[in-house]
Amino acid sequence: MHALMNRIVMLGWAVWAVTTLGQESPNLQKISEHVYAYAGTTNASPTGNAFGANVGVVIGRDAVLVIDTLISAKAATRLLEQIRAVTDKPIKYVVNTHDHLDHAWGNCAFAKLGAIIIAQENSRLDAGKTGETLGHAGQYGLTAADMEGTTIVPPSITFKQSVKVDLGGITVELNYPGPSHTVSSITALVSQDKVLFAGDILFSHYHPYLAEGDLTGWQHALIELESTIAIKIIPGHGPVSTVSDLRDMREYIRVFDTEARKLCAGKTAADAPVIAQELLKLLPEQGRTELPMMVQANLAARFLPKSNH
Ligand SMILES: [Zn+2]
Repeated sequence: MHALMNRIVMLGWAVWAVTTLGQESPNLQKISEHVYAYAGTTNASPTGNAFGANVGVVIGRDAVLVIDTLISAKAATRLLEQIRAVTDKPIKYVVNTHDHLDHAWGNCAFAKLGAIIIAQENSRLDAGKTGETLGHAGQYGLTAADMEGTTIVPPSITFKQSVKVDLGGITVELNYPGPSHTVSSITALVSQDKVLFAGDILFSHYHPYLAEGDLTGWQHALIELESTIAIKIIPGHGPVSTVSDLRDMREYIRVFDTEARKLCAGKTAADAPVIAQELLKLLPEQGRTELPMMVQANLAARFLPKSNH
């Protein structure tokens, strides 16, 4: 009996250790000749790893461009230290694939170095709006200590459709495919290295955040991206992906949209937990193990009116 108890306790510790290890912040991986990235973070948590948000680093002859900046000054400073371990070239540019906290609240650490912050013109990352959101960081599980030193820094340059950034010997093309995950979601293509950063237009192994999405526009954006020349695609969250993951994402959105609509007819927010369980059975099996609670959040935000009682 004791031996069995010990085994159970040890198993518990093993599971705990794996979970804790997984929550440690990710490290930069070399993706191609000019590109490094975070990719494949598991056990998403707000403080440990910015909900598993990925980043990119593109290194040219003259300059470095950083794609997304994580959730806080602290997380961005840690990223900066990792960048400094692979290059001492100036970080001249930061790109925000969109304005959500896990991708843009670390801008401040790079702005301090004089980096130009580039985003699509619909970006709503401005001191007024997000200053208020910073005050509510607690609702995302972030403490004052987590957010120490974090200030919201809006883009210094915006563009409408596309722009190319020359880093010396390597170019990054930013493209806006129309409204999708958000109204300002863009992609970044490093065509010489055949690497595409899809931002949160692609989630792999993660249930996506759909609450603000234009679900029809999003499916069109994915169709457009499916003809990319890129061989490696870095999603906003999840491991290095390929075109087949873009197709899976499109199918997930299609099924979510059609099935959630049916399941939610006549229901209210109070029914969200039960409907989420039903919907999880109908969504395509695509190995999405991270953030299953997103399904309920997406249902509540999109299809279920708040109940009056
Ligand atoms: Zn994200």
